[in-house]
Amino acid sequence: MSAIPSTVSVEQFASDARAWLEANATYRTGGNEEKEMVWGEGEFSVSVFHSLTFAQEKALLDRMQKWTMLKAERGYHAITWPIEDGGLGLSREHARAYGRIEALFETPQGHETHSVTTRLIAPTINVYGTPEQKKQLVGHFLASRELACQLFSEPGAGSDLASLGCRAVRDGDEWVVNGQKVWSSGAQFSEWGELIARSNIDAPKHKGMTAFMIPMNLPGIEVRPIKQMSGGTSFNEVFFNDARIPDSMRLGPEGEGWKVALTTLGFERDHSDGGGGGGGRVGGSWRQLIATARALGVTNDAVTRDDLAKAYTLFRIEGFVNRRAADLRRAGAPAGPEGSLGKLMWTGGMSFISDVISKILGASLIADTGDWGTYAWGEHVLGAPGYRIAGGSDETQRNIIGERVLGLPGEPRVDKDLPWKDTKR
Ligand SMILES: Cc1cc2nc3c(=O)[nH]c(=O)nc-3n(C[C@H](O)[C@H](O)[C@H](O)COP(=O)(O)OP(=O)(O)OC[C@H]3O[C@@H](n4cnc5c(N)ncnc54)[C@H](O)[C@@H]3O)c2cc1C
Repeated sequence: MSAIPSTVSVEQFASDARAWLEANATYRTGGNEEKEMVWGEGEFSVSVFHSLTFAQEKALLDRMQKWTMLKAERGYHAITWPIEDGGLGLSREHARAYGRIEALFETPQGHETHSVTTRLIAPTINVYGTPEQKKQLVGHFLASRELACQLFSEPGAGSDLASLGCRAVRDGDEWVVNGQKVWSSGAQFSEWGELIARSNIDAPKHKGMTAFMIPMNLPGIEVRPIKQMSGGTSFNEVFFNDARIPDSMRLGPEGEGWKVALTTLGFERDHSDGGGGGGGRVGGSWRQLIATARALGVTNDAVTRDDLAKAYTLFRIEGFVNRRAADLRRAGAPAGPEGSLGKLMWTGGMSFISDVISKILGASLIADTGDWGTYAWGEHVLGAPGYRIAGGSDETQRNIIGERVLGLPGEPRVDKDLPWKDTKR
């Protein structure tokens, strides 16, 4: 680890970072994200989910992990994190300056499991882990030396996550886990899982859960990939059959699993760094949308111009909402319910891009004409609905905003105080 002084100015830090990036990466040919792309040149990817074989997706993740580990040698992977976690203990301005410069360089394509590990699960362990867990896992995950997935949702528990039924029964210094999880993104690539399990069936549903960090290679854990409509296999079913977890891997106090889950979901909804929460920046961008419209010669059409103006407006407003959330974070506020606003802006914008590009492309969205930058948009259109559901659906975000930001009356929660075993599921 290099010794970058905590007093380094943003300018000096940026200049050192540029020198390091010049030595370790190459400049993008198309230039910065802000610049216009050159139509027909390079790779055109607008996918939201990867449509790859296991080996291809593993190779993509490996590249991202190697890049993060290289950055970790200088602390560039965790600029605002404390030095004991492998970070640099510097400000968000330093991190933003680094991000702007790194965007000028070719770097490996992001992956959801990488973001989940570094941006959701590492910070959750930082909040709830024991000193041993933090020492073992926080720096390790930030540098993505190993990967971790979220084992929350079940076939009967998604929006109403607190009704989950995967059981964890204490047996001395161990917990015995039985049940099923579903939609577990990246479980097939992960060495670890953050598991939320039902540990007390007599307590009300929100109070009888316990969280664990579990090695995915424990006997009794089976991961089965699910094929999705966009072609890839991002998710899995995960089955637990008498899997035994040592109590030392419990994350947070017994019965407090709901708070641990909400902490992770809070990080997932926080888009204040301009990235896509757990998903990273995915799908087609404004820059790609306008470039496609220009290439197809439709920018003089009045209706299309109207759509493009609206797409640009949404993109800019999302940026301002994220900046406001980032300012709140900088002032020390924890990730709060306003993260739901950022998530809705993000997923709403992605869906609107789907609508606009579908009108622009017409039949060439679904029939591959071989024209560069056209048929590829199908991956955006088929993938965008996924993030309207992941990490809490649009309706769930609106409920959060209604109740916790606007102070409107809550939904009727008739089973709130019932023992979980007596609730209707
Ligand atoms: C891309 C993607 C990645 C995911 N990754 C993971 C993962 O890694 N780990 C994991 O554990 N889970 C993951 N999930 C699962 C995700 O968290 C759930 O799909 C989500 O919480 C919704 O739950 P559900 O699918 O059971 O739908 P349901 O909860 O059954 O909802 C069905 C519909 O009813 C609506 N609805 C439900 N309750 C209400 C209400 N009270 N008010 C208004 N409308 C309501 C919903 O908005 C939705 O439209 C992922 C899902 C997706 C799509």
